[in-house]
Amino acid sequence: MARNNSTVNLAPKMLRSIEEMRAFEAVRPLGLVPTMGYLHEGHLSLVRRAREECAAVVLSIFVNPMQFGPQEDLERYPRDEGRDLALAREAGVDAVFAPEAREMYPAGFTTEVRVRGIEDVLEGAARPGHFAGVATVLAKLLNIVGPDRMYMGQKDAQQAVVTRRMISDLDFPARLVVCPTVREPDGLAMSSRNVYLGPEERAAAAVLYRALTTARRSGNRSPEILEEVVRETVLTEPLVELEYVSASDAGSLGPVTADTREVLLSLAARAGKTRLIDNVVIG
Ligand code: AMP
Repeated sequence: MARNNSTVNLAPKMLRSIEEMRAFEAVRPLGLVPTMGYLHEGHLSLVRRAREECAAVVLSIFVNPMQFGPQEDLERYPRDEGRDLALAREAGVDAVFAPEAREMYPAGFTTEVRVRGIEDVLEGAARPGHFAGVATVLAKLLNIVGPDRMYMGQKDAQQAVVTRRMISDLDFPARLVVCPTVREPDGLAMSSRNVYLGPEERAAAAVLYRALTTARRSGNRSPEILEEVVRETVLTEPLVELEYVSASDAGSLGPVTADTREVLLSLAARAGKTRLIDNVVIG
């Protein structure tokens, strides 16, 4: 199943319409890596994993307006399709699905997929409507691309939990594969939004992963103590403001209980105008 990595890769097929995507005849198993583009090593790690496990890989690039709030960065979200295509080719992607917003949301579009409960906590509480946008676009992508496996990053832990629930509840015949967070050498989680950071903010942002690992290393599993260690560590960095930190059950995203197997310690913070998220799982 795994393909030879040493050959020169052909340019991926560029598919702009749903019709073209549906007509693409892929060998199976087919892997889908959904992204909003401006690719970095985090995205490429998902492509590599998909290449190892699948016979063909589709990368989608779509800055999904439905998952952005009115005050968020939809307009200025970084985009560079030429660079993305070169990276996709290098990584051995077979097809890139990059529709326009009006292709995905034509006039009259009104359906919304809600994953009740888990969409309302953590990021969902901070960004009302965000996960309805995420779940809706992923349901559409699953229907349009028809993959056997879909690859997502642990960086967006809640997105993975919401997606797993939706795949199960709506009987999509695809398996979700969640891949580890890829980090910069100083620990900052790779993100397309990191380009917004000025040099001082960029250096300061490393405090987030330092805070999460300090809490993990404390050996404590009490949610209050884990959260307090993160708060105190982030406070040492004046350029970074913590929005929330939360220790929750990694499976349900509810409170940590005696039955909790893994604790998800997750946070959101701002460095200047840039909003960053990160998490670690404590087993
Ligand atoms: P995005 O383009 O930010 O919507 O991300 C597309 C996919 O890449 C999502 O499944 C993310 O979780 C994943 N991803 C983003 N950043 C990273 C990272 N640093 N490490 C691993 N996966 C990531």
